[in-house]
This record gives sequence, structure tokens and C-alpha cells, in this order.
Amino acid sequence: MSNKNGGIILDITNLERTYGKDEHALTVLKDANLQIKSGEMVALVAPSGTGKSTLLHSAGLLERPDAGDVLINGQSTAKMDDAERTALRRVAIGFVYQFHHLLPEFTAEENLMVPQMVRGQSKKVARDRAMELLEYMKIAPRAQHRPSELSGGEQQRVAIARAVANAPSLLLADEPTGNLDPETSAHVFGTLQTLVRQTGLSALIATHNHELAAKMDRTVTLQAGQVVDITK
Ligand code: ADP
Ligand code: MG
Repeated sequence: MSNKNGGIILDITNLERTYGKDEHALTVLKDANLQIKSGEMVALVAPSGTGKSTLLHSAGLLERPDAGDVLINGQSTAKMDDAERTALRRVAIGFVYQFHHLLPEFTAEENLMVPQMVRGQSKKVARDRAMELLEYMKIAPRAQHRPSELSGGEQQRVAIARAVANAPSLLLADEPTGNLDPETSAHVFGTLQTLVRQTGLSALIATHNHELAAKMDRTVTLQAGQVVDITK
């Protein structure tokens, strides 16, 4: 870990995000601040419409804030152009959505190989890493199946494995188990947590499930556009 960020992987500072203009303007985030340390797993629990996805997309450099900054491994992104943001996102950040967003024409293994090959990895290295991750997520026997041949829980395990295919330092997940029944949800979360713990990843995970939130290091919520720690 470099000294310049003091072990802070994600540093959101005075973030502001407003949708629309004039009388239609909706300020979702205002002076939002959040720091996540190396290896830390943080739950984001807040009602629908309060800005969880906006915060995650901003942290993931998928959306540009109107003000403030997002520092990844101590690196400021406020003045980066789109190409620089994309390049940083590819190496440093993994994203998991509520719905898997896997490529339907490709097998689970290929879905994990694609992002690695986009980054310039050889086919062999990408395949070995894909199989290693599918084993980690306890889904290796499904490697040659397409997403439509997998259950919801299996699809999400593949999506999580894909998110970490390029060994990011930060995992962002937007209600990754929100679409699953409670039992499957607990199982998928269990494998996710094991993966995060064993690889030393930092993670910010939006969830409505208080049981899952309680298993993380701390819980934050959104109140009037700000991030508030509500760890009990
Ligand atoms: P959450 O993920 O907590 O449900 P979101 O971040 O998706 O909340 O949305 C926060 C608020 O911003 C909601 O009121 C939503 O309707 C609004 N919003 C989100 N994205 C857009 C957009 N692209 N344009 C306009 N309003 C948006
Ligand atoms: Mg959302």
C-alpha cells in the first residue's frame, strides 16, 4: 500500500449530484463524504430513491458528479477525461449490478475471459484465471453454460467473479442479491464475502437486507444527500 493514500482505497469528498435543471432539479447527493479502507467491507442501506445507485455509479466512475471528487487509491479523478476514467475503472474497480448483465451469447467462462482480454491478457492466462475464480465462487461445474442456462444465484456468482476478474482493489455492488430468494441470497453473499476477505478487496455493497449488512464491517446510509454511518 502506498503512503500517499494512507490505506484509503475509496475516498469520496464533498460529492454533489443533481439530476435535471431549474424547477425540475433534483439534488440527490450533497456534500457526500465516504472513506473506505483497504480490506474494509461496507454496507450501504437506505430506502429506494435516496441515491444508492447514484453514489455507487459515481464511486465507480460510471457517472460524473457535479462537484466534489472521487479518489481511487489516492488518485483524484475530478479532472480526468473519459478515457482516463475508463482506464482507471478497468484496473481498479469491479462492479456488480442487481441484474447480472452477463453477455448472453457467451459461456460463464468466456464472460470472465472477456474483460481480461480487453485489458490485453492472453487467452490462456484469462482462461486459467476464469476457472480459478469460478472455483472460488463454487460454480466451476457450470463454466461451459450460458447465462440463460444458469439459476439466478448462479448468474450472480458468475457476475461477482467477473467483477473481480481483473483483480480490482475496489468492489462496488448495487443490491447484488436483491433479486434472489433469502436462502440463495445468503449463499451468494457468503461466497462474495469469502472472496472479498481472501483477496483483501475493499467493498461497498448496497443492500436492503439487514442480516447481510450486519455481517459487514460497518453500515452507512444516505440522509439528505449525505453519507451517514449507522453502525450499531
Ligand atoms: P436508489 O438507488 O437509492 O434507489 P437512485 O440513485 O437510483 O436511488 O436515485 C435517486 C433519485 O434520483 C431518485 O429520485 C431517482 O428517480 C433520481 N434519478 C436517478 N437517476 C436519474 C436520472 N438519470 N435522471 C433523473 N433522475 C434520476
Ligand atoms: Mg438503486
